[in-house]
Amino acid sequence: MKTLLIIDDEKHIRFLYEEEFSDAGYQVFTASNGLEGLQMLEQHPEVDLILLDIKMPEMDGTEFLRRVRQMNEKLPILISTAYGDYIQQDFSVWLSNGYAVKTSDLGELRAKVKELLGE
Ligand SMILES: [Mg+2]
Repeated sequence: MKTLLIIDDEKHIRFLYEEEFSDAGYQVFTASNGLEGLQMLEQHPEVDLILLDIKMPEMDGTEFLRRVRQMNEKLPILISTAYGDYIQQDFSVWLSNGYAVKTSDLGELRAKVKELLGE
């Protein structure tokens, strides 16, 4: 079973993604900002892929990406953001493995997760 870590400050997004990916057979952990995300990653080194929001309090997704990449260059990180145009211009995307724009249709997100996990 593959394990996902979902990091987003919006509760309804965490709930939506958790339900979606649990139903699809993944083990899912969640965190509400980058700082919590780093703690979860430390507690759960078995995480196979991270779904990452950018705009969050405490520690945003850009800073989280930088920190994780200092420790781990290979862990797949998929940015999930409402700001699709913004992210294309932001260098942080180069530290990630791609991004999906937030919509109510999770098909694109599911497909990208599968692809990055080699499923
Ligand atoms: Mg946010």
